[in-house]
Amino acid sequence: MITRIQAPMQSGKWQAELRQAISDPKELLTILGLSPQQLRLSDRTRREFPLRVPRSYVARMRKGDPKDPLLRQVLPIMSEEVEAAKFVQDPVAELSAQPVPGVLHKYYGRALLVTTGACAIHCRYCFRRHFPYATSNAAAGKWHLALKYLRNDRSIKEVILSGGDPLSLSDTRLADLVTQIAKIDHITRLRIHTRLPIVLPERVDRSLLQWLCATRLKPIVVLHANHANELNEAVTKAITQFRKRGVTLLNQTVLLREVNDSVEALVDLSESLFDIGVLPYYLHLLDPVRGAAHFDVEHATALFLIDGVRERLPGYLVPRLVRECPGERYKIPAELLGTA
Ligand SMILES: *Cc1c(COP(=O)(O)O)cnc(C)c1O
Ligand code: SF4
Repeated sequence: MITRIQAPMQSGKWQAELRQAISDPKELLTILGLSPQQLRLSDRTRREFPLRVPRSYVARMRKGDPKDPLLRQVLPIMSEEVEAAKFVQDPVAELSAQPVPGVLHKYYGRALLVTTGACAIHCRYCFRRHFPYATSNAAAGKWHLALKYLRNDRSIKEVILSGGDPLSLSDTRLADLVTQIAKIDHITRLRIHTRLPIVLPERVDRSLLQWLCATRLKPIVVLHANHANELNEAVTKAITQFRKRGVTLLNQTVLLREVNDSVEALVDLSESLFDIGVLPYYLHLLDPVRGAAHFDVEHATALFLIDGVRERLPGYLVPRLVRECPGERYKIPAELLGTA
């Protein structure tokens, strides 16, 4: 389970926003003008994986719409309690791909660091919702083990900071970590997998940009947005800060039932991302994590949708539809997988 975010030490704007994030489903429904009769809330799954959503993200939800695509991503509902075959605790076998705590090394040339369990938002479909962050993160006083691993494997060219959300760590800790990574000469690229610039754009402040631009490593930021309604003016402003500094910007999306499972929604997302200077990267088929079966889109439907997107958009705006398969050497294009 994702641990609650630690009370941040600094008192910048984003830390204040984070402290005011909503954790009470009833409060969320009240803000949206919805009643608990319209949406069956689940207390049990909320205890396992609490509701957490920044207010500025809530402001992007449509009032009075129980089917709002942003609301659906964060609200703990009864559907999560339905057990489904194949929907398991660790769907992509991450626990067996950890050479040292907090390092996931599955693919050639790049290694992923689980830097923290904390996120600014809790996405109900999260494939790491049951990940044992307390023992398996590189931060628990164990940076040095992770760094040693990176140092000893000269095939690693790229380090991916992931989590949780790496940008929920303080800039002091991140700057320190990145300085250590940059000392390893075979590493040339630094990739950050983060949803924070989308859900809490205030996070992209001067102090973040400072360490990101001070490093000799080539920076890549991979965002996570699932719906065009997530992008607003504040997000655009945050992204512009990255663009001005030459950061490569990509986006990954999870294909989610009743959130973005239409050609319309996917086309709109790709075009809206491009408008703010971000290219679509991956469209992930849902990882079968326990509690998320109601988000699943059938394989044949997913293929049909991506075909529709191809028909409508230039190739560079079509994300790669992939599935993470345990034991494989890369994320597998959906077209190569059977419909099982
Ligand atoms: C997804 C993932 C990556 C990144 O894969 P790319 O195809 O390079 O984007 C790296 N390591 C792990 C463990 C991953 O799950
Ligand atoms: S931001 Fe990413 S890691 Fe955090 S809950 Fe959402 S999907 Fe999971």
